[in-house]
Amino acid sequence: MRIFVLLLLVLGSQACYAALELEGRFIQGGLVFGKTMPGAEVLHDGDEVPVSPDGYFVIGFAREAPQNSELMIHLPGGTEETRKLKITSRDYDIQRIDGLPERKVTPRREDQARIEADRVAVKKARARVDQRMDFLQGFDWPAKGKITGVYGSQRILNGKPKWPHYGVDIAGPVGKPVHAPAAGIVTLAHPDLFYSGATLIMDHGHGLSSTFLHLHKILVKEGQRVEKGQVVAELGASGRSTGPHLDWRMNLRGKRVDPQLLVGPMKLSKPENRK
Ligand SMILES: [Zn+2]
Repeated sequence: MRIFVLLLLVLGSQACYAALELEGRFIQGGLVFGKTMPGAEVLHDGDEVPVSPDGYFVIGFAREAPQNSELMIHLPGGTEETRKLKITSRDYDIQRIDGLPERKVTPRREDQARIEADRVAVKKARARVDQRMDFLQGFDWPAKGKITGVYGSQRILNGKPKWPHYGVDIAGPVGKPVHAPAAGIVTLAHPDLFYSGATLIMDHGHGLSSTFLHLHKILVKEGQRVEKGQVVAELGASGRSTGPHLDWRMNLRGKRVDPQLLVGPMKLSKPENRK
């Protein structure tokens, strides 16, 4: 009898454990993909997390995310499980960039209305939250080349401290093809934003989006579905930029996360990747 009870306890705790699987980077700027029971509700640090009907969800950690984070799962039967998450802190670089057009660092008064309209359009394009799970297929580098800027670095532009940089910058020639890192739906295809020039935003589901800045040309339209690997744009130097590069950013429901953590090291072994 005692053995039976013990067995039940062990099985019980295992069943409980199986109700939550997490995989990803528990680090500032990281994304973690989760799977729980169908019908479960998930809260991350008190915020409701969208969960697909079969139990998939994604959570993220901002640049300055505190060390302690908490996931609360309400299972359909009424059981509740709390998982404490330890988030690794990062040190960020300081990056100085000089030689930018002064107007793009300290905009004129007449630029303000345009900057504000751009901000609203970008916010709207990143606000989509739906049940698609294009993120489940994983992410590839949208273009390969020298990395000239990373997530989180403190920027000093023409000598003035500015917002941190939230993207990964990949240098390359103007016109180089830019691929969709995962499938998605295009939510913004703007030919000329004040700071970021030709800008493309695609949504990968559950409020996770990719933004490409400083493009030369955009080859897709708003509302269009794109497949992973599809050429969606050409790399450029539009907007506030000192040279041609692709700036790739990722956002998850209002949090800025680090795309580089999703794709891993860039492999440049094949000659065609060096183009
Ligand atoms: Zn950049």
